Amino acid sequence: MEKTIDETKQGETLVIPQKKENTKKLFIESYGCSMNFSDSEIVASILQNEGFNTTQHLEEADLVLVNTCSIRDKAEQTVRKRLEKYNAVKRINPKMKVGVLGCMAERLKSKFLEEEKIVDLVVGPDAYKDLPNLIAEVDEGRDAINVILSKEETYGDISPVRLNSNGVTAFVSITRGCDNMCTFCVVPFTRGRERSRDPQSIIEEINDLWAKGYKEITLLGQNVDSYLWYGGGLKKDFEKASDFEKATATDFAKLLELCAKAQPKMRIRFSTSNPQDMHLEVIETMAKYDNICNHIHLPVQSGSNRILKAMNRLHTREEYFTLIDNIKKIIPGCAISQDMIAGFPTETEQDHQDTLSLMEYVKYNFGYMFTYSERPGTLAERKFEDDIPEATKSRRLSEIIALQLKHSEYRTRQFLNTTVEVLIEKESKKSNQQWSGRTQHNIVCVFPKADYKVGDFVNVNVTDCTKATLIGEAIGLSNNN
Ligand code: SF4
Repeated sequence: MEKTIDETKQGETLVIPQKKENTKKLFIESYGCSMNFSDSEIVASILQNEGFNTTQHLEEADLVLVNTCSIRDKAEQTVRKRLEKYNAVKRINPKMKVGVLGCMAERLKSKFLEEEKIVDLVVGPDAYKDLPNLIAEVDEGRDAINVILSKEETYGDISPVRLNSNGVTAFVSITRGCDNMCTFCVVPFTRGRERSRDPQSIIEEINDLWAKGYKEITLLGQNVDSYLWYGGGLKKDFEKASDFEKATATDFAKLLELCAKAQPKMRIRFSTSNPQDMHLEVIETMAKYDNICNHIHLPVQSGSNRILKAMNRLHTREEYFTLIDNIKKIIPGCAISQDMIAGFPTETEQDHQDTLSLMEYVKYNFGYMFTYSERPGTLAERKFEDDIPEATKSRRLSEIIALQLKHSEYRTRQFLNTTVEVLIEKESKKSNQQWSGRTQHNIVCVFPKADYKVGDFVNVNVTDCTKATLIGEAIGLSNNN
């Protein structure tokens, strides 16, 4: 296996593994959540064994795959625009085959082939191992499709090919699917029922990454707190498991501990959590191990109990406050981030004020905030009219974003005149004289390069900051090197 270096993004060195004997070229681009980016690395690995090396150059590709997102209508429009662009490329590269992967492929199924003539191949998130057969069908001139959702598939036996990797941080997926039927969300329909990956294969992947020089991993799942390994199969069938399987089951807190112990110097992050499934043991395990980063991404979506109920979020704002209080008690200074939706059907001005007051209570470090986007087939689409005017949605969203920016600055300023440990990931976007990395609280920090290098853990004295970025001076390597 050899590697090529491709300096495509300013100052960022991308390591792209290539197999010398492979002759075919795969261009793969991903949209949406980290799960999709992690899945694209699984796909690249499956196709590497089929003679494909990845390329960053669309016009030389034999196969172009788009890993699509369906979480909002805008995400789907972005994919359709991309497919239009491919029409032009196909004129200069007629041998090019085009395939769509991911949630939009799963949601639209064969309609994708009808609606987008350039598409030859439609593959759902659980059918990537069938790609070699499907590509063979396309090579024989037929369109190909497989959107069957699985009860077992976790791709735990596939060693991902790291794409666009900085060689320092990597995703490790631990669960697939989601059983929480939040009424606004398409994920349960596009990614199926929850199933967890064998902890042994997760630990092997972490050890392999450490051996390859990676310094930080993020454990990935739509809902990591719901992780439960009891020998394979769906989470919902756990009740039918044997007493032995129940007694020896591994939940998320246990998995976190196994990962932290496996590589004590490897930074461990995880995403995404759901407040209704997060247990105290997870927070206590985070407090017990220095290499588990003190940051929790804890989507809440709304601060109103009435809206939380309409969203089928199985917790109240009061229960969410209790969870936040426990996190801050057990891990003082833990960074917390959010997801928020503005303008969910029937949302009143008072519901919106409840969201703002919840944010005031938590003062999140940062967040991902969007207006409600009605998704076909979801419970919310079937039960509610999308009745909040776009202008009201946007006004409420801008108030949420403005408050978040104020809180981000408040939280970032708390690190002024302190020393933080930073893992160097790349050159700063603003200056090639500076390194950029993140603290364990997931805050970006930039400082002069001096003699340090990508992959170093460096102690930095924070002398200044912007709303979201720390600025400082390196004072030496940390003990974690
Ligand atoms: S927890 Fe809710 S929002 Fe998150 S993926 Fe599952 S259904 Fe969607």
